[in-house]
Amino acid sequence: MTSGDFVAETGDGTRAVRAGLPDPVKHEPTLPGPVFAAHFHLPGEPTGPYTYGRDENPTWTHLERAIGELEAPGQDGVETLTFASGMAAISAVLFSQLRAGDTVVLPDDGYQVLPLVREQLTAYGIEVRTAPTGGDAQLDILDGAKLLWIETPSNPGLDVCDVRRLVAAAHAQGTLVAVDNTLATPLGQRPLELGADFAVASGTKMLTGHGDILLGYVTGRDAAPMAAVRRWRKIVGAIPGPMEAWLAHRSLATLQLRADRQNANALAVAEALRGRSEVSGLRYPGLPDDPSHKIASQQMRRYGCVVSFSLPTRGRAERFLDALTLVDDATSFGGVRSTAERRGRWGGDAVAEGFIRFSAGAEDPEDLVADVLRALDESAH
Ligand SMILES: *Cc1c(COP(=O)(O)O)cnc(C)c1O
Repeated sequence: MTSGDFVAETGDGTRAVRAGLPDPVKHEPTLPGPVFAAHFHLPGEPTGPYTYGRDENPTWTHLERAIGELEAPGQDGVETLTFASGMAAISAVLFSQLRAGDTVVLPDDGYQVLPLVREQLTAYGIEVRTAPTGGDAQLDILDGAKLLWIETPSNPGLDVCDVRRLVAAAHAQGTLVAVDNTLATPLGQRPLELGADFAVASGTKMLTGHGDILLGYVTGRDAAPMAAVRRWRKIVGAIPGPMEAWLAHRSLATLQLRADRQNANALAVAEALRGRSEVSGLRYPGLPDDPSHKIASQQMRRYGCVVSFSLPTRGRAERFLDALTLVDDATSFGGVRSTAERRGRWGGDAVAEGFIRFSAGAEDPEDLVADVLRALDESAH
């Protein structure tokens, strides 16, 4: 079997365990170890594939192939570039595609660093317009934009927009579309199949899933914009370390197992919270009566591991987090160990004081649900 042959026809689990593996070589490992090299032997004319460590690395190549096979199985000409973090990947798309005088449309309810990005873009003479994710509100401000940035489901509010609909409107007027696919992962949603030009994500979250590395990536369908993204990575040098890249590739093998368990746990937690009178504003796109569910079910294959809800007061939320024993009070999401936090402690997100973002891990569902219900009871006093 050669790599790539299986890609289009197989299921997610099969694809995840084999993604990006090189063709078998006798006496070589299945997944070659990390290549630590600042430079490579390069006599004569300096031609690729491997010249200098900021430009290329064989460990990235394997990982980039793997992510590409998951983001766009069976699609030819798709290219993936990995980065030091999700923000490095996001910045690479924005700052490589936009020039002074261009307009970009961002969500106003997206990842908490986007307002800082907005300030930077504005300082460079780029016009930034924002609108909420829900109700496809970004459609109303699309006129003449160079790039539309979508984050669906949005973090932390878990609103969902109709990617196909937004892409159709954007492409009709020549606007590029990028989708932040962090929360869904490529096993939850495949933006390129929905028509987007770029799928961009933080690999720090569920993609790698152990809460121990930072990583980002950009997958794109067209050579010219991707060449600009690659050039940006070279200029800025926001490259992943070979060890991180290798760990990420190793972690991809369990992505389907982790995603299925964590998504099932998120649904179990959401269902348990639904019956509680102190819980308000419960959101999980996988709940059949969630406002996001209808669109989510048309474009997502898994609904993610994040559940959001509010408790009546800041004090109640803090006591709840304190009382949990199987859930770490920590930021970020997507790891095999459940985490939760009171999002308002950071400022920046438009959320209530008692708003909790809960990330379901891979614990046994009955243990996790019991811990959550017990902590809710204890936090009442
Ligand atoms: C975490 C996150 C990012 C940023 O990723 P880093 O790896 O922390 O740089 C971007 N978008 C979303 C939706 C995220 O959750």
